[in-house]
Amino acid sequence: MLVVMKRGATQKEIDAVIARIEEFGIKPVPLPGAERVAIGTFGSTSRAAAEAVESLPGVAEVVPVSRPFKLASREVIAEDTVVSVDGVPVGGGAPLAVMAGPCSIESREQTLATARAVRAAGATVLRGGAFKPRSSPYAFRGLGLDGLEILAEARADTGLAICTEVLSPGDVEAVARVADCLQIGARNMQNYALLDAVGEQPKPVLLKRGMSATVEEFLLSAEYVLARGNRNVILCERGIRTFERYTRNTFDVNAIPLLKRLTHLPVIGDPSHGTGKWYLVAPIALAAVAAGADGLLIEVHPSPDHALSDGFQSLTFENFAAAMTQVAAVARAVGRPVADAARA
Ligand code: PEP
Ligand code: MN
Repeated sequence: MLVVMKRGATQKEIDAVIARIEEFGIKPVPLPGAERVAIGTFGSTSRAAAEAVESLPGVAEVVPVSRPFKLASREVIAEDTVVSVDGVPVGGGAPLAVMAGPCSIESREQTLATARAVRAAGATVLRGGAFKPRSSPYAFRGLGLDGLEILAEARADTGLAICTEVLSPGDVEAVARVADCLQIGARNMQNYALLDAVGEQPKPVLLKRGMSATVEEFLLSAEYVLARGNRNVILCERGIRTFERYTRNTFDVNAIPLLKRLTHLPVIGDPSHGTGKWYLVAPIALAAVAAGADGLLIEVHPSPDHALSDGFQSLTFENFAAAMTQVAAVARAVGRPVADAARA
């Protein structure tokens, strides 16, 4: 339930509502808005608590929240959330946020060269995995802490913000010390201990859709992070598994406008994992932007043929620069500003 306070409600009235809700043994969630304050009462005794405060001074109305996800829902927070990734705004009316870089951090040279190339083409965030979730335990699983050091050096060199994946709750502290944004991969979308752990620290979280997750399950995973107090969540559509075998995954373009309708959180598209084919990345990136994505995540490698992971879906520097020119044109066509370097 959402207890909506009157426009001019005093702090004393708000405090009284909070205190009354607490008597029911549930934690009220104050939600300051541009127009008025609302207080969320989520949980099993929520209805009784909300009904008890309905006639208190300063209360305008009590509104049921019909969605199973609450803090992620537009019913609860109507205005777009803009997440700042080390000063790079993502969501709302912010310029399209392009996060680009190699699937895996392989070496200092590979990472620095890629960081410089993607920055020159208009990306504002460098992505790259130091801890890699691989389907096979025999595949390259990343450089770990050494990879984080390389990412920090690339940030110092280029000024790009850094986004990298964290695989286990025990690594959250170490990864958050370096990263500007923590990625939760598709395979971990329903790792609730990990969602709790990233929810308890303040760095933004890039949450990728599980490969067989429904949109509702995706938003409930975001809710885990939000419920722990971290409101800086970016959602990433990265394709779902279907019967189609020519592509690695099926990029669910529906999910972008659907998510934008259901939630206030920023939504970005990942055409690299969404297709698994380098030659499909640019067209699907354009589709994602046309559908209203707030940003893109694109894998780029100096020599995709030699990549230690996901080479077949990685763009060369030239192909990335060409894709960015097209992306900027579509972004402009749908009324979205783009970062200067990406302008054609
Ligand atoms: C990645 O971003 O390199 C990655 C492993 O993605 P996903 O979790 O979507 O498979
Ligand atoms: Mn990858």
